[in-house]
Amino acid sequence: MDTQKTRTWAEISLGALRHNCRQIQRSLPAGCGLMGVVKADAYGHGAAVVAEQLRQAGAAWLAVACPEEALALRQAGESLPILVLGASDPAWAPVLAEHRVAQTVECREKGQALAAALHPGQRLQVHIKLDTGMGRLGFPWEGAGLEQALEVLRLPALEPVGVFTHFAVSDEPETGREYTQEQFRRFRAAVSELEQRWGNRFPQRHCANSGGVLFYRQEGYTLDLVRPGLLTYGVYPGRERGGLDLRPVMSLRSRVAAVTHHRKGDTVSYGRIWTAQRDTTLAVLPVGYADGLHRCLSGRLEVLIRGRRFPQVGRICMDMCMVDVTGCPDLAPGEVATIFGRDGEAEISAAELAEKAGTIPYEILCAVSPRVPRICSE
Ligand SMILES: *Cc1c(COP(=O)(O)O)cnc(C)c1O
Repeated sequence: MDTQKTRTWAEISLGALRHNCRQIQRSLPAGCGLMGVVKADAYGHGAAVVAEQLRQAGAAWLAVACPEEALALRQAGESLPILVLGASDPAWAPVLAEHRVAQTVECREKGQALAAALHPGQRLQVHIKLDTGMGRLGFPWEGAGLEQALEVLRLPALEPVGVFTHFAVSDEPETGREYTQEQFRRFRAAVSELEQRWGNRFPQRHCANSGGVLFYRQEGYTLDLVRPGLLTYGVYPGRERGGLDLRPVMSLRSRVAAVTHHRKGDTVSYGRIWTAQRDTTLAVLPVGYADGLHRCLSGRLEVLIRGRRFPQVGRICMDMCMVDVTGCPDLAPGEVATIFGRDGEAEISAAELAEKAGTIPYEILCAVSPRVPRICSE
């Protein structure tokens, strides 16, 4: 892995990714498959590479947010079944069918429009989405919602291969247990009514996201498939580990661009929000908010250099930020700095950064911008 000329990069540990897949798969009952969630460029990790690893690790399906993401995977040669989780424009139907991509159907009108948009002789695989309490997409789980889902199930141009729902609070085991259990109960009731009246079984029933796998797998929420996204990338949605030992896949690293010296009383960066309280040595890092380092973290994060933590100071700029490295003797341009990830014995997690930024680790990972090359390591 030669990064000598790279200013800032995201290191993607394929070994960690495979380890996480094995850990997750081992925790599942026999017969339950893994649907790898690779939307948003695999949470910023690089969808084509992640998909290939997941396939080799034995994943049964891939999930993306939109048709564009599915087609990009097909263009990269990906052969696994793919599900588009989002609500897509019906005009996509012929292309999706041609590329053997399954589409979520969230309402009767969409099901009819997808079927109508297909070319003669084409069939489109679909997964029926039920809203059991997320309040986002899906057929209502009871009453008229099920009548409408049944109408979609009977459209000859559609091939229903799955049914699913999505949890709102499965990642909050302390406060969200009752609600998650209620969502699961609704899902089971709706699926069994649908199957009974339709006269067929859904080959794939699925509901467990990362929280579902972490905290509800022993209660049977795994069904035919699970859809953990965040866990695959070695990041937990909260503090609890749920009996899984996962490794972070992404580290964000940069290279010291310059080392500068400042007198007590000097100010640094836009807005002059930081003043040197003593004679100070700074490292200028070529990483800024255009790379995904949120500007709201200005003056609040720490960076690892030589396995030690140093405070970032002053406003984070678009392409750079400054780190107080006073007391780190003869630091030179070219040395590696870690924004999150491991450096020697020290580690900064995406979760730590998320907490400081007032957000969730998902957003920290997804924010790493396309300008940052993804560099895979074993
Ligand atoms: C994103 C997403 C997932 C994965 O969520 P995680 O919290 O990352 O496990 C699963 N299902 C659906 C419908 C999603 O949109």
